[in-house]
Amino acid sequence: MVDIEKALERIKTVVGPRGWIADPAEQEPYLVEARRLWRGATRLVIRPASTEEVAAVVRTCAEARVPIVPQGGNTGLVGGGVPPEDGRNIVLALGRMNRIRAIDPVNFTMTVEAGCILAHLHEAAAEVDRLFPLSLGAEGSCQIGGNLSTNAGGIAVLRYGNTRELTLGLEVVLPDGRIWDGLRGLRKDNTGYDLKQLFIGGEGTLGIITAATIKLFPKPREIETALLGLSRVEDVMALFARARAATGDQLTAFELIPRAALDLALVHIPGTIDPLAQPHPSYVLLEMASSGTESGLRALLERLLETALEQELIGDGVIAGSSQQAKQLWHIREAIVEAQLYSGSIKHDVSVPVSRVADFIIRATTGVTDRLPGIRPMAFGHVGDGNIHFNLTQPEGADTAAYLARWQEFNDIVHGVVRELHGSISAEHGVGRLKREEITHYKPAVEIELMRRVKRALDPANIMNPGKLVSL
Ligand code: FAD
Ligand code: ZN
Repeated sequence: MVDIEKALERIKTVVGPRGWIADPAEQEPYLVEARRLWRGATRLVIRPASTEEVAAVVRTCAEARVPIVPQGGNTGLVGGGVPPEDGRNIVLALGRMNRIRAIDPVNFTMTVEAGCILAHLHEAAAEVDRLFPLSLGAEGSCQIGGNLSTNAGGIAVLRYGNTRELTLGLEVVLPDGRIWDGLRGLRKDNTGYDLKQLFIGGEGTLGIITAATIKLFPKPREIETALLGLSRVEDVMALFARARAATGDQLTAFELIPRAALDLALVHIPGTIDPLAQPHPSYVLLEMASSGTESGLRALLERLLETALEQELIGDGVIAGSSQQAKQLWHIREAIVEAQLYSGSIKHDVSVPVSRVADFIIRATTGVTDRLPGIRPMAFGHVGDGNIHFNLTQPEGADTAAYLARWQEFNDIVHGVVRELHGSISAEHGVGRLKREEITHYKPAVEIELMRRVKRALDPANIMNPGKLVSL
């Protein structure tokens, strides 16, 4: 086996002086997870500039058995992208690999390097009159390699699918340092196992994604945004079914915002507006888009809302009159997430069949409030995909540390309801360190065993992000 010190020196030579960071102060942003739940340590942060450099680094790591943590924008919420505390892993950050290699507007595809920031891909697609629809709160800093590795969801899944559905091909550096060029831009390719799907959502445990060919779509010409006030979560889901049936593929987002979360945002986040004259227990932020002009989208939305008002499904609502107003409404959606940082919050990112969302929220709310009166459930998010961010804010005035110490107790209650409704305990954020043990209680034993076998088959030396996603 190659001596570790020698291996680290060789890696530094491969990437050159701009490609490594050993100074602890400069390493800081690479060591701390977005919610500050984990702080890791490392000897070296490596920032390669090309696929060949990644391959050479990984080959050296494989020979010396140095574990690698791939990292994109470090916005992940489950501790997957930060190194463990023991300092044995190197961090391999893809940020310098940020070239758009090719755009093919006729094929509706774009081939991009892993370190491209998501928002930059939106701009590049728009320049050729196309849309790359993946959209999430962290889009200004997350990278496409991280999005692929977490199979990110976000606010446009309803219409366009998760990152998985947006991907046609990948280039991957395997754990032994070989490069797999799977950058195909094909809509049809039935030539065996679809290997890219292992790396998408693989959280860096099977290889390092260095580039991808992703799908583009026609750019929307008309967008309508509305914010509606409702009394009951059952009505929210009834409205969803009606809106989807009436508008088909034109419904692009359907987000739930509870009043309790809006109240927190109004206190803590500047620029948040109280959008309707009277408060309502629940709000829906709805977006529709059409790639045709004069599509009649506005009239369709107005008809939908008029009928819903007449039938008392919704209490009140506002349709954005300008893109500026639409931005204000979307600001509420982002502000409710940020506002929860100001108190102790126990998080859940779960999904159930869309038809069971209301049932889930009612049952889980009863479960947690019975256990701790005064607890403040904030059920919000992408309910049109069956995805609920079921966050539990501490009772007012409670001791934060003592409250957060009960994290597992509340996970058990909430995940128990998820199990009853045949849902998932991680809808879009992934597993990482946070849920690595938890998933073993919720997935069939056969599935966990198959995951371990895949991991061992591709990464027998266990150097790719060890200790994340799957425990061996
Ligand atoms: P990182 O955090 O750096 O890494 C995530 C995982 O991928 C780690 O396990 C890492 O090892 C691995 N990885 C990174 N790059 C590579 C690579 N090139 N090859 C192999 N493995 C790699 N997520 C959603 O799904 N939907 C949302 O709506 C959403 N909203 C968010 C809002 C905010 C404000 C924040 C802070 C986060 C949000 N997230 C959301 C979570 C996060 O942004 C996503 O998981 C995102 O896809 C992570 O991308 P990243 O580049 O930051 O990856
Ligand atoms: Zn989300």
